Amino acid sequence: MKKILTLAAAALLLAGCGKPGTPPPKGPQPSALPTYAVAAGSAVSGSPTLDAARGRGHLVVGAKEDQPYLGQKNPATGEYSGFDIEIAKMVAADLGFGPDRIEFKTIASANRETALQSGQVDYYVGTYTINDNRKKLVGFAGPYFIAGQSLLVRRNDKEITGPQDLDGRKVCSASGSTPYQRIQKQYPKAHLIGYDTYSACVDNLITSQVDAVTTDNTILMGYAAKVPDELKVVGEPFSQEPYGIGTPRNDTVLRGALNDALAHHEENGDWKKAYDATLGLSGVPAPAPPPIDRY
Ligand code: GLU
Repeated sequence: MKKILTLAAAALLLAGCGKPGTPPPKGPQPSALPTYAVAAGSAVSGSPTLDAARGRGHLVVGAKEDQPYLGQKNPATGEYSGFDIEIAKMVAADLGFGPDRIEFKTIASANRETALQSGQVDYYVGTYTINDNRKKLVGFAGPYFIAGQSLLVRRNDKEITGPQDLDGRKVCSASGSTPYQRIQKQYPKAHLIGYDTYSACVDNLITSQVDAVTTDNTILMGYAAKVPDELKVVGEPFSQEPYGIGTPRNDTVLRGALNDALAHHEENGDWKKAYDATLGLSGVPAPAPPPIDRY
């Protein structure tokens, strides 16, 4: 019988207590994570989003739940962790909300604009690329990181080394994402398959239902690091994906406050500490944070 190890099964194995001598699972180590001083009575006024959050008593923040080192939900505790989650927490602190006053809500790539437009979430932090099309629908603070599109293949694959090798191959990405759109436009001979999540794509890659998964290198490196015997990231990144905090489009006060908060935590070292304890665990040292674009 063919041995099939899905990502979920592999994650469970890695999360287990392990045999003696097994290295501890990689993942954000709570002790290494910074804590963020919560501003007493945030001075920000005139933001309808923040006014509603204050009335409700907590912030609702959109995120991903299946992206290792970036945004991951612990199925046992319901807790979210990762670099994006830390970004969400550090900016919330400056707005006067401690971590116990943030409710994270998982929103898939294709549903982010609707979630922000309909007020389902106050802001969104989840590998969300800033671009002009999206700016017509939502606002963006940041960028707080720059990723690039890449490819994930099975460890034993010798044929796919870059997007030029995708003709006639099954390549999977998340519907509504910029990597999905780029393959559709620039590599029309690839057989493109869209799912809601990248983890569904990765499960299909491991079981040979698809030949490659494409999205940001940050996300793919996280999956590869979880099952290095099965998966590898190949080639050089072939796009620029500047990550922003998504906001309701017209709440410019919130956008300004989030930009101030990002600048503050980049300057005081929290940004780097958060990176080192999360995304840095997938093997790439912290870059300098990109300049903030106050458009
Ligand atoms: N950064 C890309 C995007 O915003 C891909 C990652 C994602 O789908 O979240 O579309």
